[in-house]
Amino acid sequence: MRGKKMMVIGIIIVIVMVVAAVAAVIFSKPILTAMATNMIKQRFISQSEKWDDGLYAGLAGTAGPFPDIKRAGPCIVVKAGDHLYIVDAGQGAARNVALMGFQMGKVEAVLLTHFHSDHIADLGEIMMQRWVGGSNTKPLDVIGPIGVETVVEGFNRAYSLDDGYRVAHHGAATVPPSGAGGTARPFSLSADEDASVVVIDDGGLKVTAFKVNHAPVSPAVGYRFDYKGKSLVISGDTIPCESLTKQSQGAEILFQAALQPSMVKLIHDQAGLSSIPSLAKITAEIPGYHSSPEGAAKTASEAGVKQLVLYHITPPIPHPLLNNMYLGDAGKYYSGPITIGEDGMLFSLPVNSDKISVSNLLK
Ligand SMILES: [Zn+2]
Ligand SMILES: [Zn+2]
Repeated sequence: MRGKKMMVIGIIIVIVMVVAAVAAVIFSKPILTAMATNMIKQRFISQSEKWDDGLYAGLAGTAGPFPDIKRAGPCIVVKAGDHLYIVDAGQGAARNVALMGFQMGKVEAVLLTHFHSDHIADLGEIMMQRWVGGSNTKPLDVIGPIGVETVVEGFNRAYSLDDGYRVAHHGAATVPPSGAGGTARPFSLSADEDASVVVIDDGGLKVTAFKVNHAPVSPAVGYRFDYKGKSLVISGDTIPCESLTKQSQGAEILFQAALQPSMVKLIHDQAGLSSIPSLAKITAEIPGYHSSPEGAAKTASEAGVKQLVLYHITPPIPHPLLNNMYLGDAGKYYSGPITIGEDGMLFSLPVNSDKISVSNLLK
């Protein structure tokens, strides 16, 4: 009996020694260093340059104004051939742009749809990272309707001390002082409800800004990107309107900001019971200037787009089981695929194919 016990103890000691030896190898400094080097390479250095020629949209942020544990604020990266643009700069989105492997130093311009805080919050970070990430010698172009000058001026001023620290620390050759911050590139639109203007026309890429209806917020625009026969539309915040339907005609993908009123009402009812009267009032008012998923589906159907992608998800969807509640009756109005956008999603429209493929760069 005693011999058996001793044998078991002996086996346990051997197992512990083997585990300890294996752990010592796994956690040895050279192996940890090799692992870290590999991970750093993947995350920071070997950002993919192997893109087929085409139009791409990466969702760096898909939340609306409410805090969402899984989503950054509204921000879509658009890559057209060698061109790289960012539409809107929602809170926390700058880090997703980098984590998705886009090279911030190569961003040519940020395009703003309007100046609600949830669409501009990360503009300072994007301007700073684009400057230091590419030793750029000119400020970043920030394209937007009239009013963009005020926004850019404010961020430039807020970041001016930080700009100075970085030049003093890293030197003007690495962070040229002339490249800090942004330059506002305002455009104006006629009084027509469906006014539009081409804001970029370069190397096969045409970007059209068009009026949307986010009243009482004005101006507010959406953007259509056309590149070598491929096209996508980013609605910005709007209710369904003629101008959006017109500009979305025949686009491959409509990225539509969407708010589900029935779910916002649940928050409203709870807020009404709480001691936060401002939340109750705001939740009563916001459905009036956003499209519902159903409204988005009707727009997608009328415009004949191939795919509808919802972003600016409002309110946050607390659990995937509630995705259908968020979509409501959207499926009744549009027969194409409807995707609830998630941070990290990349929609690819290569010029040599009719396929729309979707992957997630954050998974
Ligand atoms: Zn918004
Ligand atoms: Zn808004």
